Amino acid sequence: ALMLNKSYFIETFKKLAAMAEENRDHLSKLDSDIGDGDHGINLTIGFREVEKQLPQLSESVTDIAELMKKVGMILLSKVGGASGPLYGSFFMKMATHIIGKQEVTFKEFCQMYQDGVEAVQMRGKAELNDKTMLDALIPGLAILKDYQEGDDPINTLENCVNEMKLGSDKTIPLMAKKGRALRLGERAVGHRDPGSESAWMIMNVFLQQLKT
Ligand code: ADP
Ligand code: MG
Ligand code: MG
Repeated sequence: ALMLNKSYFIETFKKLAAMAEENRDHLSKLDSDIGDGDHGINLTIGFREVEKQLPQLSESVTDIAELMKKVGMILLSKVGGASGPLYGSFFMKMATHIIGKQEVTFKEFCQMYQDGVEAVQMRGKAELNDKTMLDALIPGLAILKDYQEGDDPINTLENCVNEMKLGSDKTIPLMAKKGRALRLGERAVGHRDPGSESAWMIMNVFLQQLKT
């Protein structure tokens, strides 16, 4: 069966830094419509710092759980906005069920994602349709929860990313119940939530790395 090792995650984090860079202006533009215009900048700052520390991390961490915790802590400490603590918790809590593991099955990867999403929910106290990143993360979780041994991991993760994209689309007509867009009321209607866009983009990098 497919096993995801430390270098799968390390390569994915390198590509996340590039993804953030490429989409920086797009994500900040979304955020300037209904927030303070820094979402792309926040992600770039966070993942650039992760990339900077990766060479040293890949030497020092003993297992994947430790890698995820360290990456989460970097995002948490380096990113000022709401998304730093939220994505920081997402990656940190991915470690919950994989302590000591040098490689994980795709089934275990699905559990990592679930633990990550639950951490975002715990920290942000948002629910589906509050116009946040959870509007992408939660629909993706439904797909990964359905994964069974024998299913194709690439297909499954592709379905997950597609559902996340649809979830992000569904934020457009909503008013916000959390985050900066909350105080805009009706004026947030017609705009996509930036965190829902970055969430599917992040999982798309995990997908692209799985395909290599
Ligand atoms: P800030 O709003 O502090 O400038 P960012 O612009 O980096 O931080 O991130 C904004 C994104 O964070 C929003 O688009 C939304 O998806 C997400 N977000 C904000 N508050 C919450 C929350 N309570 N729960 C989940 N996601 C949230
Ligand atoms: Mg912002
Ligand atoms: Mg901000």
